[in-house]
Amino acid sequence: MRLVCGGPRPTRVCRTRSVTETRQLLRHFLSALAYRTQKALRGAPESFADFRVGPTSRTPHELLWHMTGVIGYARTMLRGGTFTPPRVSFAEEIVRFHDTLAALSADFADGSLAARISDEQFLHGPLSDAMTHAGQLAMLRRLAGSPVASEDFIYADIRPDNVSADQPAPAAADGWWRPDDPPRPPGAHLLHQREQEDAIPRRIVGFHTDEEGHWVADLECGHGQHVRHDPPWQNRPWVITPEGRARFLGTELRCRKCVNEGRRA
Ligand SMILES: [Zn+2]
Repeated sequence: MRLVCGGPRPTRVCRTRSVTETRQLLRHFLSALAYRTQKALRGAPESFADFRVGPTSRTPHELLWHMTGVIGYARTMLRGGTFTPPRVSFAEEIVRFHDTLAALSADFADGSLAARISDEQFLHGPLSDAMTHAGQLAMLRRLAGSPVASEDFIYADIRPDNVSADQPAPAAADGWWRPDDPPRPPGAHLLHQREQEDAIPRRIVGFHTDEEGHWVADLECGHGQHVRHDPPWQNRPWVITPEGRARFLGTELRCRKCVNEGRRA
């Protein structure tokens, strides 16, 4: 839907006009872009900015520069003019990218701004383009030897009012993810999840460490279950202190071994 300003006092009428649902969705998309870009950049080694996999492929620094250009180009569809950002340092590019995202998000939230293109064109054009490049950043992280942990993005804390570089940690990190593992087939994690749900709840009656020093919970059924604190892959800081472990005594873990042995609840 295209918003057209009208009425006897166009400016006031336009300023109070509420933002359409599709514009809200586009703003949400920009926040998801900020989130995924930061996920791909956060914790990267210093050398990552200039990592180049082929003579004519973009480095992460060049990718982000291009992404800034794409988002700035989208803004010209609302504001007119041209956008040709000069090359700056990688750190400055990160700031400028998020500033440009914030500017476009604010434009989308401004019901008085009419665009030269439809919201659908914003989505399948510059916004999809920038998101594709966020994926390339993530893939380059793996090729650069510093892969990014997977997560269930459905539960990510993505808010339309946050397109900044300060993005939250995953709300639903994949606990099974390991940097050196080959990729899993689609849906494998769901099978793992279902197995977990089918498993029998057993109370924790104690703890011990295995030969590698990882913590294992002793369950009432006699089985053990690893409760590793192995950041950033698995985060259970409570398990490394006696007070923390004491708090978890009596709580339940689901025991898959009981199911495998045909034991009942
Ligand atoms: Zn058991």
